Amino acid sequence: MPSPIRDRDQVRQLVNIDLPSASKTKVLEIITESGAILDGHFSFRDHHSQHFLRFRGIGNSSREYCDYLASLLIKVAGAKEDKNIPLKILSAESAGFFLGHAIAKLFGGNMENKWGNHVVTPVDLYRKPCIGGYLRSGQINPGDRVVVVSDVDHTGESLDRLIKLARRRFAIVDTAMVFATCNDGEYVRRMIDMGVKPHLLVEFKLEMHKKENCPLCQSGVQMLPASEFV
Ligand SMILES: [Zn+2]
Repeated sequence: MPSPIRDRDQVRQLVNIDLPSASKTKVLEIITESGAILDGHFSFRDHHSQHFLRFRGIGNSSREYCDYLASLLIKVAGAKEDKNIPLKILSAESAGFFLGHAIAKLFGGNMENKWGNHVVTPVDLYRKPCIGGYLRSGQINPGDRVVVVSDVDHTGESLDRLIKLARRRFAIVDTAMVFATCNDGEYVRRMIDMGVKPHLLVEFKLEMHKKENCPLCQSGVQMLPASEFV
């Protein structure tokens, strides 16, 4: 079974955090205390890894953690509300929900319904956001400004879907926020290609192995899908 890593030095070696010192210390503490990084044997499509970052660990640990990360992301993004344009926070019904909800709470001061600015879309069998059909909650109207939010996005695929969902409803999407991304910056490139400014707090340094030469497979360690629900 995978086990959460609760040693701060070990966590420090697995992440890059490009934030001022006090914020960096707090984010490291949140990841460590909530046991968000798991040690085990995880499958990511064609690759395997010993570690997995699971935002659900943070979302379930403490509302204060989520609120802190939300306020930090807003600060990093320099995001502000415009009184004349409704601002909506769009996330999927996955672990990104926790972060989206915390961010939405910090905005929406001029919304009639305090929670009405958090828009949530269901996910498909692969835990990716559904972009057609109905929304779980909230709505996006033409001309709304939409900030897309996800927890951990490796390639930007989940955010790509959220952006398309909002743009199909003629909303303006110019900002993406994620708690963490992985290794190679594909998320950043993809967002820039889509005309959206990408923001993140943590880069998770994953050591990936090709299936064929994965040392964990060779040692017979039980493998799990890299999913929020392992
Ligand atoms: Zn393996």
